[in-house]
Amino acid sequence: MKISLDNLNQTITNCSKCPRLVAFRKKISKEKRKQYRNQIYWGKPTPGFGDKKSKIIIFGLAPAAHGATRTGRVFTGDKSGDLLFKCLYKAGLSNQSTSTDINDGLKLSCFITNVLKCVPPGDKPELKELLNCSKFLEGELHILREAKILVTIGKVAFDEILKFYQRKYSLDKKNYIFGHGKKYKLPDGKLLVSSYHTSPRNFNTGLINERKITNLFKLVKKLKIN
Ligand code: SF4
Repeated sequence: MKISLDNLNQTITNCSKCPRLVAFRKKISKEKRKQYRNQIYWGKPTPGFGDKKSKIIIFGLAPAAHGATRTGRVFTGDKSGDLLFKCLYKAGLSNQSTSTDINDGLKLSCFITNVLKCVPPGDKPELKELLNCSKFLEGELHILREAKILVTIGKVAFDEILKFYQRKYSLDKKNYIFGHGKKYKLPDGKLLVSSYHTSPRNFNTGLINERKITNLFKLVKKLKIN
């Protein structure tokens, strides 16, 4: 069946399959963080966005409670996203270094989404929630046919992509070790590239910095996949 990205995103936005996550996103959107108390939170699942013809898809774990769950755009409105968008700009994958809201004029030459479209409490999704949401991941991969490189931000996104491929192909996860800048061929010929998460914790401990993340995206941009 043919489905457009707009249709898929509409379906994602209307989804209420995971009761725990529906309750949590409603709670967050009602209670709000003090500094955003005058804003209306998006409060729904957050679909991906960007260039649907790009060869690159970037996968995070899930929307942040007061980031994407507030702004309605992935990685937008929190510190992890601030660093990510700065690095994408430096690597030449966007037209501006910031992402603040859905009308800020940002244009990407990659596509960004999350493996889970709703924020989980404590950033800890349950297995069944990840499984429920994998149908949307499948839809995205089906629609974004030009994508040849899947970049995962953080280990949970890396593991979820592997689990998704494991369900479809024979793949031994033991052969795929998470690490910054690691590259693996997937059974359908795509390339999986793993990155450490752009979280403030990784930044503050020195595990990542602007240069490391920018360099990874510069390298990804140059990769040629047949
Ligand atoms: S996590 Fe995915 S499947 Fe679950 S309610 Fe959100 S959009 Fe639906």
